[in-house]
Amino acid sequence: MKISLLYNTVLLFGPPGSGKGTWGKILGMMPGFYHLSTGEMFRRMDIESELGQRVMAYMRQGDLVPDQIVFNLWTQHMQNAALIGTFKPQKDILVLDGFPRTQSQAETLKTVAHIKAIVLLHCADPEILVARLHRRAVQENRTDDASEPIIRRRLVVFEREMNRTLAVFPNDLIDSVEVSQPPVRILAALGAILARRLAPEES
Ligand code: ADP
Repeated sequence: MKISLLYNTVLLFGPPGSGKGTWGKILGMMPGFYHLSTGEMFRRMDIESELGQRVMAYMRQGDLVPDQIVFNLWTQHMQNAALIGTFKPQKDILVLDGFPRTQSQAETLKTVAHIKAIVLLHCADPEILVARLHRRAVQENRTDDASEPIIRRRLVVFEREMNRTLAVFPNDLIDSVEVSQPPVRILAALGAILARRLAPEES
């Protein structure tokens, strides 16, 4: 009988500009954590390749990359990371940011991951997100952040997919963190959630 291993996983979920990448990187620096952003994975693709060109075309429009492409590239990335030893599937907590983004991605992910926590980075004021994305366009030279209509489109796409994606998981796995508060408070909230979900105190 083949016993397949489920990756112990934390999902960072939230609209563009909510800080998934920032917090994901910070969590990924903790010993025993491995962070992967699918957006980052796509941005590192060879844009000369045919697949790289296709992926970029979706991103530039603010559209989602098709599920099958996302899952294939994600699987390849995880297998390579396990092979070279940067990700240790038996021990590490996988922190995913930007994946899953659709119901179908969530259902597929569930077959290979044990979801220990879902953190929803919530922003009370969407205009804060728009302003952050404008800043990021300049700082990180991201073409998909450069135009206001594309930014707004990505926010709409997120709203459209969010409920259906989250509905795939038990509701009591989801904790929400407000991201318009000062970063130290966000860090404290994230720490409290992860401590409770991943290392609960013995009672
Ligand atoms: P943001 O959260 O600001 O949208 P990301 O780096 O997470 O930034 O994503 C950038 C773009 O990459 C998305 O707009 C989308 O085109 C593509 N993308 C990233 N992750 C996924 C995914 N899981 N499914 C489909 N498309 C994705």
